[in-house]
Amino acid sequence: MNSGAMLNAYPDSLGGTLTDIAALLETKEMRGAFRSFYILPSVFTTDLDRGFSVISYDLDQHLTTPGDMDRLRALGMDLKLDFILNHLSVQSPQFQDMIAKGDQSEYRDFFINWNKFWNGKGEMTEGSYIQPDEQYIQDMFFRKPGLPILMVQFPDGREVPYWNTFYQEVRTDPETGRRSYLGQMDVNIQSELVWQYYGEVLDKLAGYGASIVRLDAFGYASKIPGRRNFMNEPETWDILERIRQMAEKRNLTLLPEIHAAYGEGSYKTLSDKGYMTYDFFLPGLLIDAIENHDADFLARWAKEQKDGGIRCVNMLGCHDGIPLLDLKGLVPDERIQGLIDLIVSRGGLIKNLHGKKNMYYQVNATYFSALGCDEKKMLLARALQLFMPGKPQIWYLDLFAGENDLEAVQRSGEAGHKEINRTNLTKDEIAQRLQRPIVQKQLELLNMRNACPAFGFDAELQIDQPNTHTLCLAWRNRGKQAVLTADLTTYAFFVEADTDGGKFRFSQE
Ligand code: BGC
Repeated sequence: MNSGAMLNAYPDSLGGTLTDIAALLETKEMRGAFRSFYILPSVFTTDLDRGFSVISYDLDQHLTTPGDMDRLRALGMDLKLDFILNHLSVQSPQFQDMIAKGDQSEYRDFFINWNKFWNGKGEMTEGSYIQPDEQYIQDMFFRKPGLPILMVQFPDGREVPYWNTFYQEVRTDPETGRRSYLGQMDVNIQSELVWQYYGEVLDKLAGYGASIVRLDAFGYASKIPGRRNFMNEPETWDILERIRQMAEKRNLTLLPEIHAAYGEGSYKTLSDKGYMTYDFFLPGLLIDAIENHDADFLARWAKEQKDGGIRCVNMLGCHDGIPLLDLKGLVPDERIQGLIDLIVSRGGLIKNLHGKKNMYYQVNATYFSALGCDEKKMLLARALQLFMPGKPQIWYLDLFAGENDLEAVQRSGEAGHKEINRTNLTKDEIAQRLQRPIVQKQLELLNMRNACPAFGFDAELQIDQPNTHTLCLAWRNRGKQAVLTADLTTYAFFVEADTDGGKFRFSQE
């Protein structure tokens, strides 16, 4: 696995289509900045949740042409793509077949009929769904208010509840009273047909040139009455292992996605089992270090990764919010709360998870806005990210110094809060922003990162913290080195690195 920098964007984020992004990456300004590209799943045929509700893994013809992937490969880039194993769209052929043919459908057990699942473990309600007895759901993790179900209409008029952990959209036509709906329908991991389908998906992803496969929301896949139904153990690990075997045959590296408090140690369990993990701590740790002028927690995390051999993909921003609650157990609660309040005071949004205090998931903001649109802080955050252990993933809107997009939030519906950090940039906007020093300097650092052989998963990292507010990170590999010295009080930093093109020096005063 190369540890080079990875661009992250929707196919329509930069110019309109993936063809436009390929063209942008070929320009002299951008060529050399990235070794990999995480294309979000709206590149497939999808409906809700900006790509995370897959109809099929065929490419969306409006956003990409088959030649795009070849162009990316020709630039020496590999791909990270999503495998959304927990759910499939209502509009998927499998779900549509089940609705059309009912019990005659070969897909009748492909999804989770809520009433069959809870049969004998609850009371049938007037709404034709079973309300499970308290003893079975008292420990269950609910991702949204109410039961995670969508009432599905069959041609004979029956309405049947199906398991739906994530989004749904139900509309009733005011004139005809007819109901139409979309939803991300949970698949039934017990069905062999689901596993056959998993194999087909992995084949497709490998065919597109994926080298990393992001396992979206895998913690929800195992469902058992009476259990938490999020990260059920040991079932979740068995599922992962089975998928890993399938992935290895196709030369794919899995990147399981899980948000959990640091204190729960899921990242460590994953790593101990040999998986790559997401570093969802870094976004919050960098803001903490920068705003509190204190590198202690950041340095501690760098050491833990180094000593524990944890192989991460890290990031500043991403398509979701900034995951500050993930820091629980690593950073004191009051300090986490202080960061949340600060980002909210700078225009960030918080969405509670079904109203429970302190259960909100993430703070929605662009990373640049979270840092108060301060260019020095942003560039320091980027430099530190590029020197922290792991493969750095770069959210396109961070690279282009995007600010909170509150208009987009207002324009969108229920899940609108995430739109704050998902602005699509036109070609003109990109051209203008490429003139800005904050963009150019990030590109300079990215070019250095990719042209310097000192970095790597097997390279040597030295971490020094001469005092609370100073951090030095030095990488050595194959006789080459790269050193960053950063002052978290003044935000000054200095980089010196051996690159293929000679000595690279960069400083921020
Ligand atoms: C993705 C979200 C998405 C959810 C459901 C998460 O892991 O990051 O954006 O809403 O999975 O697929």
